[in-house]
Amino acid sequence: MAGRRPNRRAIKRHYSYTSEEAAAVLGVAKGSVRRWLKAGLPHIADQRPFLILGGDLRDFLDKRDKPKQRCGLGEFFCFRCREPKGAAGGLIDYTPRTVLSGQLSAICETCETIMHKNFSASKLGLLERQAAVSFPQGDPRLNEMGIPRRNDHFRKGAKA
Ligand SMILES: [Zn+2]
Repeated sequence: MAGRRPNRRAIKRHYSYTSEEAAAVLGVAKGSVRRWLKAGLPHIADQRPFLILGGDLRDFLDKRDKPKQRCGLGEFFCFRCREPKGAAGGLIDYTPRTVLSGQLSAICETCETIMHKNFSASKLGLLERQAAVSFPQGDPRLNEMGIPRRNDHFRKGAKA
């Protein structure tokens, strides 16, 4: 099953491409390349057909795909801003769903929309180094069920 995401690796940074060539190499419709040009993909416009530098194309596609994929630990994808955003005031709430994972909630630092994301309880320690995490329903790590494995060892030893 071929993904709909263009195959960026086929683009050579030091080549230049016409929009037809770029579309063919990436395996996308010509209309997609036209849309990227309108959206700010740099190109050399003082000749026809104009040329797109491979490096510019790669960078453009990298940047464009990034927001959907990569939020930093303390960042959320804000659906109003349409990009990763930090928590207003560095304030994040953690609501456990299971012993191992839960949901983070915060307010977008830019537009004040409430943002959520799923989060692994094992990363809470890391997150607390960069944000003020609070636990409206209790810190799962203080719940005996949430204490990691080293305690099994302790229990076994205690019983033996
Ligand atoms: Zn926002």
